[in-house]
Amino acid sequence: MLLIEADGKALFAEHGIPIPAGVVVTDGVPSLPGDGPWMVKAQVPVGGRGKAGGVVLCHSRTEVEAAVAGMLGSRLKGHAVDACLVEQAAIGQERYLAIMVDAASYGLRVIYSAQGGVEIEHSASAQGRLCSPHPGAVAEALAELIADEPADWRDQVAAIGKALASLLIQQELALVEINPLFVSASGCVAGDAKVVVDLNAVDRQPRIASLIAARPAVYADACRKIAEGFDYVELDPDGEIGLVTTGAGLSMMLIDELTARGAKPLNFCDIRTGQMRGSPARLIRVLEWITARSSLKAVLVNIFAGITDLGEFAGLLAAAIEASPRLHVPVVARLVGRNAAEARRILGEAQPGMLVTEDLQEALARIDAIVGAAP
Ligand code: GDP
Ligand code: MN
Repeated sequence: MLLIEADGKALFAEHGIPIPAGVVVTDGVPSLPGDGPWMVKAQVPVGGRGKAGGVVLCHSRTEVEAAVAGMLGSRLKGHAVDACLVEQAAIGQERYLAIMVDAASYGLRVIYSAQGGVEIEHSASAQGRLCSPHPGAVAEALAELIADEPADWRDQVAAIGKALASLLIQQELALVEINPLFVSASGCVAGDAKVVVDLNAVDRQPRIASLIAARPAVYADACRKIAEGFDYVELDPDGEIGLVTTGAGLSMMLIDELTARGAKPLNFCDIRTGQMRGSPARLIRVLEWITARSSLKAVLVNIFAGITDLGEFAGLLAAAIEASPRLHVPVVARLVGRNAAEARRILGEAQPGMLVTEDLQEALARIDAIVGAAP
């Protein structure tokens, strides 16, 4: 999960990586950090803000105030802007530096490019090196990548790379990226911070947990996962099909399948039936979140059961539907695996109108019909 830039930069500063002087503002502009010019940057957990108008260079307090007023309360790339970072603009040439977990090699990948900035994806100059997950190994890999850079700031970039590696390893991050990294003889500084945390490690990482807890609106999905113990991610607040699914792969497959048919899935969900322990509580929670969206037209339950007893699951689903007063749309259930026939019998009695099938195509066709027919 991507942190907003201000939180990423807070981690950078704690690990000795230089960042511009700055202040996070949520309403009005108190005092400006240092002399201008300043950058005003929308704090939303998404990249590509520069091209979308979320990064503005300002030369006076009046300009800063206008930029902040224009951003706060607006939406940027699907996210509400409720905070801006106002920073002293950095100067220097732009470079790109990233370190990420490379799961296939049980190691890290270090990437460096002498052409940092907003067009890095289209630049052919980025070079990568694989190395073992230790700051010293990252430092060696980076030394090769920056060997041709000017000697008057090369050591500073090497130090930043080593600090970045310690940050990634200590906090069990998935990725850390600085783009642009401003370089000059008078000082190198991180112009941006892209930090991707691994939510599976959050139990061991109190600093990451505290950053997430401090911004419940920005990190709603992560807060939900920490509180509930399973994954539910809202993909599209205007989605029409709520998904009750178990298994990340099955949920992603279904999202792709629905999207390919022109349907609008609302959410990703890995409810983990094995952890439900005879209680409909998780199902009730998921139905609560799904039915909070007025665009909802249907609920699709898709369970591919290996160990799960579908008879037991069906009983819990029936109880959860009973306990969901806001649920006014049809529910379609595709249930495959152990005790599917028993599940059909239980749901057939509890919810006579509901389609319960083992056939995914039949379930999807019913969803198409409901969405097509809905007003
Ligand atoms: P992103 O588009 O979401 O990655 O946001 P960035 O923070 O990377 O900002 C986009 C672009 O704005 C950068 O690639 C820079 O070209 C420019 N930019 C950002 N911060 C500064 C700064 O402090 N000084 C200068 N001169 N340019 C900046
Ligand atoms: Mn950037």
